[in-house]
Amino acid sequence: MNEADAIKALAAEHGFALHGLAAVPPGGQAPQAEFLAAWLAEGRHGPLHYVAQSAAARGNVHARFPWARSVLCVGAYYGGEPRGQWGRDFIAHVARYAHGRDYHLVFEKRLKSLARALLDAGHVTQARYYVDAGPVLERAWAQAAGLGWVGKNACLIHPRHGSFLVLGEILLDRALPPDAPATDRCGTCTRCLEACPTQAFTAPGQLDARRCIVTWNLEQKGLVPEAQWTEHHGWAAGCDVCQTVCPYNAPARAPQPDPELAAPRPWHGLSLAEAIGLSKADFDRLFEASALRRAGWKGLRLGALTAAGEVRQEALRPALEACQSDADADIRARAAWALSRLEAAKPEPEGR
Ligand code: SF4
Ligand code: SF4
Repeated sequence: MNEADAIKALAAEHGFALHGLAAVPPGGQAPQAEFLAAWLAEGRHGPLHYVAQSAAARGNVHARFPWARSVLCVGAYYGGEPRGQWGRDFIAHVARYAHGRDYHLVFEKRLKSLARALLDAGHVTQARYYVDAGPVLERAWAQAAGLGWVGKNACLIHPRHGSFLVLGEILLDRALPPDAPATDRCGTCTRCLEACPTQAFTAPGQLDARRCIVTWNLEQKGLVPEAQWTEHHGWAAGCDVCQTVCPYNAPARAPQPDPELAAPRPWHGLSLAEAIGLSKADFDRLFEASALRRAGWKGLRLGALTAAGEVRQEALRPALEACQSDADADIRARAAWALSRLEAAKPEPEGR
């Protein structure tokens, strides 16, 4: 087995079903660095200030790691099956990537162990791992490493595993033979562009984060202007629409999900009404090691209230009314809005 294959075999042993190598060019420039620069220049990152702040490092890995020669890209399928009943169960209003144990924790542990194994085996003398939060253009590197292509929905799509994937990468100080980059297989399909409920795509693959529900309910923790509350289309945390419509995510094609990422979590039985009235203590207990901690206790309740304003179920009225005496003014305002939407949905009494 050559060195590149030995490294990828170690990645597989560490639980990464998808793995591939990309070469860092002599100048350190990341693939699709020009795309990132144009995206930022047009302001389409909106409130994602951390992307702009780390732009130089994202565009060129040598800005921080002049020793990087290769990128080992890894990924795993977290499971794309729907859970819960819309309007009744909180989980039905949550993007699927957040259903399982926080993938940052899962991947960090595996990547740390993998990096250690690569060092111990003498494959490299320096290794730096990242998952999501680092200044690495991870989808672009993953495409270069052959894991899939960045589709018109701006997600990385593997031809067999689809796009319900999480990614990680390790920068290595060893020049290794790269895998063949993946080629775009979107073809003439435009389903994701047409299905996006907020028209967040300005062109194929061009996402305007200012129009994306994920920005509103996770990055901005639900604290967005009232005009946007009706535009969440029932999503309490995240949004999966541009992925669920993708033919590469058809249920019949779904592979076996990563068992650690797909395992049930303590909050899965929570109803939408219970999420609205969630106490801080229950948030801390039920959402321990969950990616939903990113939204925070208040952000998660705001998301549930926003979803309630969309589904307009009478069964949610007691939970909404209870929020009217909540200590938090944002919670009170969102509950009052959801109640007004419930009233507006009532059938008119028949006239005489
Ligand atoms: S996540 Fe939702 S709102 Fe964002 S681009 Fe996809 S479909 Fe549109
Ligand atoms: S829905 Fe169609 S256009 Fe969009 S990412 Fe999937 S294959 Fe590509």
